[in-house]
Amino acid sequence: MKIALVYHDLFLKHQPGAYHPERPERLLKIRERLAAEDVAPLVEYLEPRKATKEEILWNHSEAHYERVAATAGKSSVQLDPDTATSEDSFEAALYAVGAQFTALDELFRENYQAVFCLVRPPGHHAEYDRAMGFCLFNNVALAAHYALKVLKFSRILIVDWDLHHGNGTQRSFYHHREVLYFSTHQFPYYPGTGRLEEIGHGEGLGFTVNVPLPAGLGDAEYLLVFREILQPIALEYRPELILISAGFDPHRDDPLGGMRLSAQGFGALAGVLKEIAEETCEGRLLLTLEGGYSLSGLSESVAEVIKVLAGVKAPEIKADPEPAAAEFIREVRKFFSRYWKI
Ligand SMILES: [Zn+2]
Repeated sequence: MKIALVYHDLFLKHQPGAYHPERPERLLKIRERLAAEDVAPLVEYLEPRKATKEEILWNHSEAHYERVAATAGKSSVQLDPDTATSEDSFEAALYAVGAQFTALDELFRENYQAVFCLVRPPGHHAEYDRAMGFCLFNNVALAAHYALKVLKFSRILIVDWDLHHGNGTQRSFYHHREVLYFSTHQFPYYPGTGRLEEIGHGEGLGFTVNVPLPAGLGDAEYLLVFREILQPIALEYRPELILISAGFDPHRDDPLGGMRLSAQGFGALAGVLKEIAEETCEGRLLLTLEGGYSLSGLSESVAEVIKVLAGVKAPEIKADPEPAAAEFIREVRKFFSRYWKI
């Protein structure tokens, strides 16, 4: 089965400023890479629909929606120190959310095994009442709301491998067990949240799993986290759907990050997720682009991930994890044994 890519040219028209790292070229470069002969036969493009105001309000306040709506047609509005809009940003953001819904509908018509939303602006920092960190509306959180409300699911796993912690997504489901939020991120770093001890609250206790990582980790260490922490928790949780906040800023060439993942490393992580999805939810995976600011690192990594999702054997990571990092990961694993059988 092919991998569906949900994309709209409007995503190029969100322009946060001439020197902003989250720029339209990111998507152009990905599209160029995916047109090469090793990937092109594996993918099919789909047009997203537009999200409605009512749908955005599943995750955001009306005041926030109106603030973003008021940027329409204006050449530049600064919504937070890192987040600016252009004439078409509001429209692009509505389609970026709508892409999630289109993707989910396609997954459940069983037309595709996996769907990758190639969207801008990204979403995981956007909070209930504010835009933040290049994000206007929280695309992945809204995908989870759609799966809960429209598709009537009750167990959704979100895996956020972006370099940064997805503060907005975490907050959306902090008190709920219907959504398990799992994040690996460089720590301490922007946005400051994502400590190990942030584990959810009330009914949601144990259903937020943060793995804050020191800078400098690479393929072997990330793979260890996925195998030793994510995989056992996910197999116990048994999600009915897996959503991935796919940020590629942990890539070794990324100008904003201090991690050392390679494109093959991302492929290997996708391999673990595919295994989990096949064991728990008939292989259904929805990936959504978050960060990633090295154009070559980003586009190569997306291509690797798509190849693995389409059935190419996941790259083997031969290196051993650094002993100090492996020890740290064992400690984190032990921490979560209070909540999970790991
Ligand atoms: Zn990021």
